[in-house]
Amino acid sequence: MPDLLQIHSAASDLAEAERSPDVEISPDFREFRTAGSVDEMTRLAQEVLADPTFPTVRAWRKAGGKSVGCFPVYTPQELVHSLGMMPVAMQGGGENLEISRADAALGSFLCSISKSTLEMALTGRLDPFDAFVFPYICDVSRNLDGIFARVLPQRPSHMLHLPQNFTSPATVPFLVAEYRRLLEKLERAAGRPFSPDDLRASLEVFNEQRELVDRLAVLKRESPEKVTLAEYYLLLRLGGLLPREVHIPLLRRALDEIERRVRKSKDAIRVLLVGPFCEQPTLELLQLVEDVGCYVVGEELQMLHRWCRRIEPGNDPLESLAASYVRTPVDIGVRSTPTTKGAAVLDRVEAAKAQGVVFLTAKFCEPALEDVVLYRRALERRGIPYLHMEFEEKSTTYEQARLQLETFVESILFD
Ligand code: SF4
Repeated sequence: MPDLLQIHSAASDLAEAERSPDVEISPDFREFRTAGSVDEMTRLAQEVLADPTFPTVRAWRKAGGKSVGCFPVYTPQELVHSLGMMPVAMQGGGENLEISRADAALGSFLCSISKSTLEMALTGRLDPFDAFVFPYICDVSRNLDGIFARVLPQRPSHMLHLPQNFTSPATVPFLVAEYRRLLEKLERAAGRPFSPDDLRASLEVFNEQRELVDRLAVLKRESPEKVTLAEYYLLLRLGGLLPREVHIPLLRRALDEIERRVRKSKDAIRVLLVGPFCEQPTLELLQLVEDVGCYVVGEELQMLHRWCRRIEPGNDPLESLAASYVRTPVDIGVRSTPTTKGAAVLDRVEAAKAQGVVFLTAKFCEPALEDVVLYRRALERRGIPYLHMEFEEKSTTYEQARLQLETFVESILFD
């Protein structure tokens, strides 16, 4: 019998030292509904992220709700929502999670998010979830789906195949068929059937969330002094962890405050942050990028909210949802369009009026590293400066990163 099958998932036998601080959230999410300032919202976000036992999911469950863990980068969250369940972004364990069991099941040269996700499964931290979706974005995510089917056999896990050919007339029907395969499992988890009318209503909810996310992204690009990258990131990160009906008004209140801010612009260079579309950098590292004298005016963080703008439900909302993924102009690492990569990064630099690019890629992330090669060639041809740094979930020292960033900023400022 393979070793993996002998690794049990159980919260009860966790050593005391392995237990994480348990943050308790009210089942009606009143902390988030009443948070009146961006400071309060980001403090709540940090508390939630410091606890890898998914406090918002536990709260949702206490109120009788079901939830589906969605691995990055893309899951049609609207399908999950239309069945009355909460789609939850599973974006790794963060810096507070000790890896003690996953190392025995996974090889050394793998990204941190794969290990922390498995660690959470093996230690009962994912017990509040009812099902999982792993989009096939790389070999790692594909294998995680298979591992989850073994270690959490009582909960459905689904590997979502995503198209890589975006021009064939067969692509949208292919994706609709994939969504139907996913729906079969989601219906079983939800205990109710799919309905196109429910999906229409869910499309509207996510349209509203995306519209607000887009407003914040435009604000960060046009007036980067008004909102720090850390605030921006935390506000978006909450969007994958809260019921969307709670996040939408919260984000609207945050935007009202941020738009009213009057702040003096720093003498900072405008940069595009490329690479962190799946595993997320630590908050310290994101803060550091701006602390050393950059304004991040474009990035790939929290892509789950940013695949497209509006989705019109049309006659067939399932087909409209599939078409929105196929026809999105978003061009990041996990969409295989190598011939367009160079032009895409140059367009993004131009649209953001960026003076340079910081590649921030997760260690051992093949999709990100492969694209860096293509991006660098295009940037070099245009004479656009760039810096490449790697990160892990549990980075502890940032001296090297600070030095690299400071040198990069100075090279642009004094060019
Ligand atoms: S960080 Fe990269 S290699 Fe790891 S799961 Fe995500 S896309 Fe795959």
